Amino acid sequence: MKKRFPVREGPQIHKHSILSKNFAERVVFSSIAKQFEVSAPDLISSTGMPGSTIAGILNRLVRRGLITTNGTEVRQRGRPTIRYRVRIPRPICACQLEATQVSVAVFDRNLALCGSDVETFATLNSLVAGVDAVATVIRRLKKSLAHSTDLPKELALEINAIRLDRDRMVSSVLPWAEVNLEERLAQKLGMRVKVLPSVLSPLIAEKQKLRVRNPESIIRFQVGDGISAHGSFGGENYYGHSSLAGQLGHVIVDPRGPLCGCGRRGCLEAYCGGPALHKRLLEEIGSGVATVIDYEKIAKSSPRASIVFLWDAWKLRDSYARDFMRPVFEHLAWSLGIVMDLVDPELVLACGYVLSDHPEWVEEIRNRAQQWTLYSPARPIPFTLGQASVEDQLRVAGTLYFYRLDD
Ligand SMILES: [Zn+2]
Repeated sequence: MKKRFPVREGPQIHKHSILSKNFAERVVFSSIAKQFEVSAPDLISSTGMPGSTIAGILNRLVRRGLITTNGTEVRQRGRPTIRYRVRIPRPICACQLEATQVSVAVFDRNLALCGSDVETFATLNSLVAGVDAVATVIRRLKKSLAHSTDLPKELALEINAIRLDRDRMVSSVLPWAEVNLEERLAQKLGMRVKVLPSVLSPLIAEKQKLRVRNPESIIRFQVGDGISAHGSFGGENYYGHSSLAGQLGHVIVDPRGPLCGCGRRGCLEAYCGGPALHKRLLEEIGSGVATVIDYEKIAKSSPRASIVFLWDAWKLRDSYARDFMRPVFEHLAWSLGIVMDLVDPELVLACGYVLSDHPEWVEEIRNRAQQWTLYSPARPIPFTLGQASVEDQLRVAGTLYFYRLDD
């Protein structure tokens, strides 16, 4: 029997008052939402339904305001192709709450961006600090919105935490996260708040960016505040029996190693996660090693910003930065080898602020992973940079507030 992810609550596609119970219609609607923008020929090939059926359904969905056309795209033979995207019932505010960053965006009914704001933090170490940070960024965004745009009354909140059941939320990077966060934020902001699991939007956003084809298996290899390797197989996101699949960051490298946010010692995340790298930089540069990296800058920065200084120094061939990154590459390559041998994925996307925008680091890890991967180098490691931006992820979060996309 198919496992139900415990967080799938609230409005769902088949319960949506306007969408009929017609199965084919729901399949087409869900397919458009998953791909973000899609043409009728694409829908014919992705659903296997005849063209006339697709055309009829598209007309009905447009007439009822559930989808909209987003201009046309001219293909090779010169015939314009209309692309469709899902509409949401009301404008939505979407927020991503991570350990070191709060990002917020407002989307209109056509999922077009009306405004966005972002702020990074050295750390958000309490429920109060997290709630205050989200409120601050949302209030600032409200002021910057055009006069014709009101701040929506509903908030889709994606948080770097996993809800195990009704009463328990766990997170290694936001250890204070708890289920009443929803209520606390709702009170503070005067908005209806719905928490979405952090796995969903980033993975769907990456799949939306794969225009050419839909790989059978994808792993999103994320190295940011936390480290994870969430997967999508046969088009379906995989969560695991307890919603804890993909927690690659908590594979233990050394049981006597540094303390991890999960409470155990020596997890991969405690060595290679952004905050761990930031801490190591502070300790080592503070002790006086020779490097172009300025201690004061690191001391004043968030982990996210520190990685940029580290990257710049590494690009300048600073010997400290080179030595610093070597064990990081080794550890991440070893874990990528585990992913390769365990899952044998068609595509592995490098994501998270430690890896995104750093193609040479991705390459270093990919090359080193060969020694940890069965039958490499004859067997290529399909490790490449992810493409989805925070805006793409927030747009998916806003869509997921209204519709369930993983049926
Ligand atoms: Zn851990």
